[in-house]
Amino acid sequence: MDSLSDVFGAGIGILCLLAMFFLAFMFLYMAVMNIVDKFKPTSKLMSCESCGKTISTSAYVCPHCGQHYGTSSAFDSILVCLFCGLLFLFLGLHVVSLMLEEYGYNLLDIIKGWFI
Ligand SMILES: [Zn+2]
Repeated sequence: MDSLSDVFGAGIGILCLLAMFFLAFMFLYMAVMNIVDKFKPTSKLMSCESCGKTISTSAYVCPHCGQHYGTSSAFDSILVCLFCGLLFLFLGLHVVSLMLEEYGYNLLDIIKGWFI
């Protein structure tokens, strides 16, 4: 028999699970977009904040006035996004495996079953 608090708890659990997979997807998506941005040859131009001359968006330093732009941090943000994405994905899968264990299933056995 399901008590009201069990139903409520399961609802919160499923919401948390969906949020985790959503965050995992968002972080991995951002990581992929950062990688695409970083490695595709870019011809985008912008105005320098300091001197107003036209420079490449991939420029780390303005060639006209020496204004610095933090494009070197893109690699860090890729790593952070990948790390967070995989972390949330792992947490989500861990919760799924805990839920399956409640019903007597083992996630690893199920996954093995798909490949064997
Ligand atoms: Zn400049």
